[in-house]
Amino acid sequence: MPELPEVETIRRRLAPLVQGRVLRAIEVLDPRWCEPLHPEALSGALVERRLEALDRRGKYLVWEARDEVFLLMHLRMTGTVLYDAPPLTPYVRVRMTLDDGHRLSLCDPRRFGTGELALDRSALDAFLRARLGVEPLGPGFTSDHLLTMTRGRRLPIKAFLLDQRRIAGVGNIYANEALFRARIHPLRETGKLKRNQVAALRDAVVGALSAGIDAGGASIDDFRHPDGVKGAFQNEFLVHGRDGRPCLVCGATVVKLVVAGRGTYACERCQTRPRRARRAGGGGGPRQRA
Ligand SMILES: [Zn+2]
Repeated sequence: MPELPEVETIRRRLAPLVQGRVLRAIEVLDPRWCEPLHPEALSGALVERRLEALDRRGKYLVWEARDEVFLLMHLRMTGTVLYDAPPLTPYVRVRMTLDDGHRLSLCDPRRFGTGELALDRSALDAFLRARLGVEPLGPGFTSDHLLTMTRGRRLPIKAFLLDQRRIAGVGNIYANEALFRARIHPLRETGKLKRNQVAALRDAVVGALSAGIDAGGASIDDFRHPDGVKGAFQNEFLVHGRDGRPCLVCGATVVKLVVAGRGTYACERCQTRPRRARRAGGGGGPRQRA
């Protein structure tokens, strides 16, 4: 569930607390977290190194330790990183101790999160390049670039937005919010969007992600800030999770569909359903994976 704004919220809150600190210990309580790497190999590469930076790419938290040793942490469904977690905090999979005595705990009830190492910057770049497309809050995410990426693509635009190899960091919530902001139906064929729609979508993706970051992310279930506080963006959703309730723009009832296997929310008055999908009936269109 943590998407770009949630990971970025964790990064911004943790960075000033960890940058410049030396990692004294890293205990992997659940070895599955860093498979196929052995926990001792992981801790051997990181312990006693100074943390130079805490960065983010897409939904990855990138811990840079001295001499270009990188820990790539992906939080997947339910991961969160707590700073000085209270005793007996459940679901701790990894614990890191800093030289100032403070501790970081990776809590992950569903245990889908992962930890991987990259042992120099070119290995890091290759790792990220193989998995992630353009960074939506970076300078490369222009409407011209998005237009080029969308040409010839026949999948529904919702599925396109969820593909991390195209745009990194957008997940289900922010894809729903961005399509509503851009007034584009989630089932619309990606390659058929007009230039002005693509420009609106680019701005809507940036707008939805930025609003999420400004609100400290969304806490629907497990997401917490490093100090245990919940994000507030769930109170600001324009369309996500609002099925059966009136559209905030026009008052029509928000509907729930399934697109790319994910719960998808739309106002079909503001976001006109494409003709072919209309003929196919009310359901939700093709259940294809992004
Ligand atoms: Zn509406």
